[in-house]
Amino acid sequence: MISIERTGLRFSFDRQAEPAAHAHSGDTVVFHCEDCYNGQLSEDGYAYSAMDMRWNNPITGPLYVEEAAPGDVLRVDIKRIALPDSGCACVRTGAGIYEIEGSHCRRFSIRDGEVMFDGGIRIPVRPMIGTIGTAPAAGTPKTQVPGEHGGNMDIREMGEGVSLYLPVSVPGALLSMGDLHAVQGDGETVICALEIRGEVTVQVTVLKDRADIPTPFLVTLDRYITTAADVSLDVCSVAAARKMHRFLQEHTGLNDMQSGLLLSLAGNLRISQVVNPLKGCYMEFPIGLAGERFVR
Ligand code: CA
Ligand code: CA
Repeated sequence: MISIERTGLRFSFDRQAEPAAHAHSGDTVVFHCEDCYNGQLSEDGYAYSAMDMRWNNPITGPLYVEEAAPGDVLRVDIKRIALPDSGCACVRTGAGIYEIEGSHCRRFSIRDGEVMFDGGIRIPVRPMIGTIGTAPAAGTPKTQVPGEHGGNMDIREMGEGVSLYLPVSVPGALLSMGDLHAVQGDGETVICALEIRGEVTVQVTVLKDRADIPTPFLVTLDRYITTAADVSLDVCSVAAARKMHRFLQEHTGLNDMQSGLLLSLAGNLRISQVVNPLKGCYMEFPIGLAGERFVR
C-alpha cells in the first residue's frame, strides 16, 4: 500500500510542491499526519510561549494522482482514521470567541474511545480531518485557510465512511491533509479541537465530466453536504445553502420553489467554524429524502 510519512511536512497548498508519492485512480493511500502544533505540545501544562507557531498546521503530501487533470473531480473515500491515546489543545486570551485569561496548553488521554476530560467528564471520540485539499491553479493558500480547494475546513462530519469530492485544478490533483481532530464541536469556538496526530487511510478516485458536483462536497452515510467559506458568516451561509439548492434541482428533478421549500423544511444549515481566517458553513440534506439519483 502507498504510504506517505510524517516527514517533509508543508504549510501551504502549492501547485509547485514536489509530490511525496504517486498513485493511480482507485488506489488506497495512508497519510501519516502530525498534529496542528507539529508535535510540540508534549505534555499537559506545556508553556505556550515555548511553542514555535511558524510550524502551525502542517499537512502531509502532496499525493499525485496520475489520471487527474484540471477540470476533473477527485473523490476521496475516508476509510480509516487511526489515532494514538492522547490529544492536545491550547486555549489563550484573544483566540476564539470567549474571554479566557492567560494561555493554557492541555493534553488529555483517550481511553476506550473516550476523552478523559476534567471533572470526570468523558467525551466520546469522533475522529475527523480538519485540513484536507488539493492544490489550486493560482496562489498558494496557507494551511490555516479554507476555500474552494478544501483546506482548513474543520467540518466535524469529515470522518470515517465519508466521501469527499475535491476540485482538480492542476495535473495530479496534489492532495494533502493534516490537522486531525479526536473530537470537535460545530464552531470550534476556542480555535482548536482535540488536536492529534494519526494515520488516515483513503481511496482516491478520479471522476471525469462531473461539473454537477459542487466541490468541496461531502457524502456521509445519510447526508449530502455542501460547503462554503468567507470572512463573513452571512456570506458563506448563503453560499453553502445555495450550492445545495442547485444540487437538489440538478439531482432530484424538483424545481426552484420545491427545492427551496424542501431545504427550509428538512435541510440543516450549520456552522463549521468561526475561528479561521475565513469562516465556514455547511448545508446538509438527508439522502433518504433526496433519493439516490446522485451517482457517486
Ligand atoms: Ca483546523
Ligand atoms: Ca485543528
